[in-house]
Amino acid sequence: MENKVALVTGVTGQDGAYLTAHLLGLGYKVYGLRRRCSDTSLARLNYLGVLDNSHLVFVDGDITDLGSLMRILEDTKPDEVYNLAAQSFVGVSWHQPLYTAQATGLGALNVFEAVRAKCPKARVYQASSSEMFGYNTEGMQNEQTLFNPRSPYAVAKVFAHHMAVNYRCSFNMHINCGILFNHESPLRGLEFVTRKITHGVAQIVNKKADRLILGNVEAKRDWGHARDYVQAMHTMLQYQGSPDDYVIATGHAISVYEFCRLAFECVGLDVKKWLVSDPALARPADVPYLCGNADKAWKTFAWRPTITVAQLIEEMVWADIGAQRKQ
Ligand code: NDP
Ligand code: GDP
Repeated sequence: MENKVALVTGVTGQDGAYLTAHLLGLGYKVYGLRRRCSDTSLARLNYLGVLDNSHLVFVDGDITDLGSLMRILEDTKPDEVYNLAAQSFVGVSWHQPLYTAQATGLGALNVFEAVRAKCPKARVYQASSSEMFGYNTEGMQNEQTLFNPRSPYAVAKVFAHHMAVNYRCSFNMHINCGILFNHESPLRGLEFVTRKITHGVAQIVNKKADRLILGNVEAKRDWGHARDYVQAMHTMLQYQGSPDDYVIATGHAISVYEFCRLAFECVGLDVKKWLVSDPALARPADVPYLCGNADKAWKTFAWRPTITVAQLIEEMVWADIGAQRKQ
């Protein structure tokens, strides 16, 4: 049997790198869509040791450019398309709401349109987000929970999600939406709070900083590991039943403060001595509580996370300490 072919948009991002490594390990040929930048960083793929893999081929394109997607799909004819590309940072989405709508919302629609035109039988994964649930103060969220988005990013993701469901129903396309809760790793962008914390702890340990300044430390998130979550993306697409929406989460939420406390504890430091909370860093609107119920994913394709938040924090802290010592 010939190897399966996958197209991954957002290949240079955290999930793109872990997913590519996972697919290559399964024998896939992977086309990684990357956009033209003055300095495209391939550091994450390099970190995972897959940059020189002959089954990974980069293709130049941009999800805001329908023409480039049409050409790429015509040339590559993938069996599976993973749409991970997005302006993915909530904080910046208030500063660049139009661009966020363009990339995170319309970009996804461009992908669905191009698949419909060029390879309608391909199985598609859309990266939906727990941010779509938005304002919640208690109770776990599942596939039935109403969306109440609280940022331009979340609104754009809701648009993309509804378009995915619409294309699935209208055109009988095999589009699955993974409603993923926050997932992190040593490859997480520095702008996200978990990586800001572990990088900050490493700076304090390495005597490069004397405090860590955060915004709202009361917010609670359900944090998992990206390595577990990309497995869910792939497994979801292999399921032989109808395409659907699936919450992917650990079912366990802790506060930003608690994440921070555990990160300092890893290196024997007391959070109270080093953490400063600055209201100036608070967002125009925040999401206080996200905690997912992934029972449907467990019952349908037997996915469960394997890495605890404590293990995640330990890995991230020591990866940051090691990386800074090499600099
Ligand atoms: P990252 O921010 O690490 O990666 C985003 C990727 O999208 C990068 O490769 C980036 O390329 C690419 N990209 C951005 N704009 C464009 C564009 N116009 N055309 C082509 N590529 C583009 O995000 P993650 O890997 O963490 O997340 C992957 C997906 O999952 C995103 O859609 C995100 O919104 C979603 N998600 C993530 C969650 C998480 O906790 N990580 C939770 C739920 C959903 P470049 O390197 O050039 O910037
Ligand atoms: P999000 O859930 O996608 O918005 O992921 P983030 O990691 O960006 O933020 C998670 C939570 O941490 C949000 O409630 C933020 O308001 C909160 N937070 C507190 N301080 C900071 C900070 O300095 N940076 C970021 N990114 N988030 C912070």
